[in-house]
Amino acid sequence: MKAGIHPKTVKTIVKCACGETFETLSIKPNLNVDICSKCHPFFTGRQKLVDTGGRVDKFKKRMEQK
Ligand SMILES: [Zn+2]
Repeated sequence: MKAGIHPKTVKTIVKCACGETFETLSIKPNLNVDICSKCHPFFTGRQKLVDTGGRVDKFKKRMEQK
């Protein structure tokens, strides 16, 4: 590694929109992110249903009638 060509890394506090904070190394002292490993659906396993025009509700009602 050549000295002087790499950006200096500092300890960074990353703040997520969900309230989670964690430390990492970056060239910026502070970072704000919208999503992290704690709240990303891929990691939480929670699924977001995109209900367009109440189609899910209509489907549920139909299933209840049977
Ligand atoms: Zn988060």
